[in-house]
Amino acid sequence: MRVDTTILGAGASGVMAAIQCGLRGRSVLVLDHADRCGRKIRVSGGGKCNFTNAYASAADYVCGNPHFVKSALARFTPQDFTAFMRRRRLTIVDMGKGMLFGDNANRVADALNEEAVGTGARFVFNAAVRGARREGDGFVVNVSASEIPDGKVLCSSLVVATGGLAWPQVGASGLSYEIARGFGLRVTELRPGLAPLLASVESREWCAALSGISLPCRIVLPQTPEAPLIEGDLLFTHKGLSGPAALDASLYWREGRPLQIDFLPDSDLMGVLTSTPRLELKNALSRLLPKRLALALCALEGWSGQVAGLSKKRLLAVESAVRAFPFAAASVDDYAKAEVTLGGVDTAQFSSKTMECSTIPGLYFTGEALDVAGRLGGYNLQWAWASGVAAGSFA
Ligand SMILES: Cc1cc2nc3c(=O)[nH]c(=O)nc-3n(C[C@H](O)[C@H](O)[C@H](O)COP(=O)(O)OP(=O)(O)OC[C@H]3O[C@@H](n4cnc5c(N)ncnc54)[C@H](O)[C@@H]3O)c2cc1C
Repeated sequence: MRVDTTILGAGASGVMAAIQCGLRGRSVLVLDHADRCGRKIRVSGGGKCNFTNAYASAADYVCGNPHFVKSALARFTPQDFTAFMRRRRLTIVDMGKGMLFGDNANRVADALNEEAVGTGARFVFNAAVRGARREGDGFVVNVSASEIPDGKVLCSSLVVATGGLAWPQVGASGLSYEIARGFGLRVTELRPGLAPLLASVESREWCAALSGISLPCRIVLPQTPEAPLIEGDLLFTHKGLSGPAALDASLYWREGRPLQIDFLPDSDLMGVLTSTPRLELKNALSRLLPKRLALALCALEGWSGQVAGLSKKRLLAVESAVRAFPFAAASVDDYAKAEVTLGGVDTAQFSSKTMECSTIPGLYFTGEALDVAGRLGGYNLQWAWASGVAAGSFA
């Protein structure tokens, strides 16, 4: 089989690349080992697809080259994808903080698939991609699929959109990295991102006792200056910390570096304590914090007695423990629980405008396969759409 452009992966970035290539009149073949397009889109946002974040900017991404995402994000914006949702008459739900959701992720994936097919792109599912290599000015892709009996696709452009390692349960694999290494490209260190933080052995029991408690918090990573201030809900689990704030923190946390958690980001703790001198400290704290957490903090720190009986020094210690609680994570959870892969194919080897490899003309990488990971809140899909459009405009 011979086509202009082969796209490996019918996920978020692959489908966008297919639409763009199809609109340019290229003959396009999309290969995927899944049985339909966008398996990850279909589970995204709890099945509702947080398809973009209206405020997405380079600061929301972790990447070895922080400028790399700028060009693609500027040329395909959150407003562009929102316009697509409107044109397809898909419901848009504004969840605040710039987070735009659909109401049914399957419909988003199906609409994208239809658009791509409408431009003439051909999809072959249940296709086991064996590898790809350079041949002349083009590429040969080896694949096992009943629709490609000789198992070979020749093409002049190859887009690798096979994503990262997160959520193998919907078909994530290491193919992007294998192909990159096969072409002699560098892959940075890979680790699970947007994943729960696992407590150290010493604090695991403490977290487990608080399991189920969710509260708004602010997280600071004092030893990671590039980490932003993280705000959001935190959830105690049997294994440690989860919830949006912990998942975001996992992008920046590294072994041996403590997190500081502010359990009362918007409250005047000292004001409340000094206005309730006769209350037992545990009861005063329970007015502000979930009771189980207030009691657990008192037990952990050995606090007891009435507020009025506490010295100024002790009150400051209470404030410090509640507003800058040191949490020593042992690790992040594994890829089965992670929403993205941190690290990936090194962006230094690619044009930020076209996603084309600077040393191998015709070879493009998009989406999560690259060393780009976004924060929680629609940023990762926005990157997938934008990088897919960038590649599809040239591949
Ligand atoms: C549970 C979950 C929820 C998420 N929710 C959101 C959200 O609401 N908002 C947001 O912005 N981001 C979300 N993300 C992240 C987002 O889905 C991804 O970052 C995005 O889909 C990456 O796009 P991609 O095109 O790079 O890869 P993918 O969308 O993962 O597509 C890769 C494609 O390649 C195919 N493939 C992989 N390996 C092979 C192989 N060996 N052979 C053939 N085909 C292969 C896969 O089947 C898949 O179709 C979520 C992720 C998860 C896991």
